[in-house]
Amino acid sequence: MSNHPTIAVVGSGPIGSAYARLLLEGLPDARVIMFEAGPQLTDIPGESVRNIADPTEKARARERSQGPQAGDFRESLGIPGGTVVEGMFTARQGTHLFDFGGDGSAHAPTFPAAAAATNVGGQGAHWTCAIPRPAFSEKVAFIADDEWDDLIATAEELLHAQSAAFADSAVGGGIRSLLEEEFAGELPQGYGPGTLPVAGDPQPDGSMRWAGADVVLGPLIEAGDPLSERFELRDLTLVRRVEHDGDHVTGVTVEDLRTKETSFVPADLVVVAADAFRSPQLLWASGIRPTALGHYLTEHPVVISTVALDAEKIGRFATEDQLDEELARRASNPADPVAAVNRIPFSEPGHPFSLQVMYSENTPFPMPDDAPHAKNRWGYVNMGYGMRKFPRYEDAVTFDDAELDYRGFPNMTITYELTSSELEEIEAATGRLRRAGGALGVFVAEPRLMPNGSSLHYQGTMRMGDADDGTSVADPWSRVWGYDNLVVGGNALIPTATAMNPTLMSVAIAVRGARKAVEQLRADAAASVTA
Ligand code: FAD
Repeated sequence: MSNHPTIAVVGSGPIGSAYARLLLEGLPDARVIMFEAGPQLTDIPGESVRNIADPTEKARARERSQGPQAGDFRESLGIPGGTVVEGMFTARQGTHLFDFGGDGSAHAPTFPAAAAATNVGGQGAHWTCAIPRPAFSEKVAFIADDEWDDLIATAEELLHAQSAAFADSAVGGGIRSLLEEEFAGELPQGYGPGTLPVAGDPQPDGSMRWAGADVVLGPLIEAGDPLSERFELRDLTLVRRVEHDGDHVTGVTVEDLRTKETSFVPADLVVVAADAFRSPQLLWASGIRPTALGHYLTEHPVVISTVALDAEKIGRFATEDQLDEELARRASNPADPVAAVNRIPFSEPGHPFSLQVMYSENTPFPMPDDAPHAKNRWGYVNMGYGMRKFPRYEDAVTFDDAELDYRGFPNMTITYELTSSELEEIEAATGRLRRAGGALGVFVAEPRLMPNGSSLHYQGTMRMGDADDGTSVADPWSRVWGYDNLVVGGNALIPTATAMNPTLMSVAIAVRGARKAVEQLRADAAASVTA
């Protein structure tokens, strides 16, 4: 073990970035090399593409994130075109489906909307930035509450949490009041309608600068900052294998996707944060195969709808003049249609769901001018319930050594089923969504359950546990069971059934993992000095 440890981080999303930042801050002699399979999209690495004002540039950045299936590198990588389709039932902008139907496509008929982003910043360059805290049984039982609160507070700092975004929007406030009236007396104190915490920095003109991996990396990407001198980000570099020798990893074999050259990079610690499908796939390809790897897959069943805000209803709480002010403010930043973000959080036992309420001038789908409620002066509320999926071994991504995918990795098959436990909660939440919509206006898109995989919140495939009993992949500090210097990160670590957007929780888990890794590397360095 060197006194100048090298740490290899696989994946440049918010989780890999949190590890890079905390490890460099905690270890003054370490250096971090971060490998990212996708391209860098923005001058500031990992910035949210939502901050790009020019619509053509924004569309281009999203296309370049859609993996080798789209963008610049499609031809050079020999991947068939036309596999990325934008629309309600396919990949969201900036993401690409795993089961795209072409050569080397994954197989996911029961989880068809499974998708990823391949770019510096990962999905965190495209995300909605909602960062509610996990609550009640969503939390990890074996992490004590006082430690958990500290981990969450650190994660919120890393993500530039903002609990009162658009709080001054009169229409946003009116939406909260209407929901409060509808659900009065049904929700526990402190868990009623409120603003949705988001990751970003409010700007003087009332808009938001949305946070991506850039804010998590912070000083690591600031020219001249001493930490930046010990940090290297290699984009378009695919990690092909984590190399290991028994219970110890020795480094990573990487392929430079520009030159096709493959090389070995030695490392004292490897952190794999390459999303909930491609991380377990990389471990599998590397011969690291705990029983639970890829299993216990969960996501959030999602029921979404769009409501035209009713002038009379909202008019009880906001005036025409206030609406005019909001419209003027939004016109100054047309690239970002979100005008207010509200929610009703998860609470138990009565409301084990998470309602996200986004207020915007437009519908997220094209509406013909003559459609009922088209061009609604008071705008639209895009609302969705996220619900729980209870972890089961049989919901899984499995890998086939005999069939390679388009990247040359053991191909994935995703098997997944909603059971009566989920279907009951979906029915209950859909009933509430109908009530919420009725309280706000008229549905222009009726509540509907999205296809499996639509949430983009994939969890459980490298779940953490407090015993090496075959039901978890990682120990309580995110180290793969049986390996002393292999850490995994991301939503895949979440072992519980959750309804909230998972990134804040995963960053909190990463903070715990990074603190332990710092401790361990310091102890190793001290031992090597005395040896
Ligand atoms: P990712 O951000 O997925 O990054 C993983 C990176 O690893 C990718 O860039 C990938 O290219 C790279 N990689 C994969 N394999 C390799 C390899 N072998 N070698 C090198 N690199 C590799 N979450 C929320 O909490 N709130 C939200 O509001 C929210 N909204 C979302 C909206 C959209 C449209 C999308 C797409 C996602 C949303 N999410 C949201 C999910 C959120 O973005 C993810 O939880 C978060 O980005 C996960 O971070 P990560 O670092 O674990 O993985």
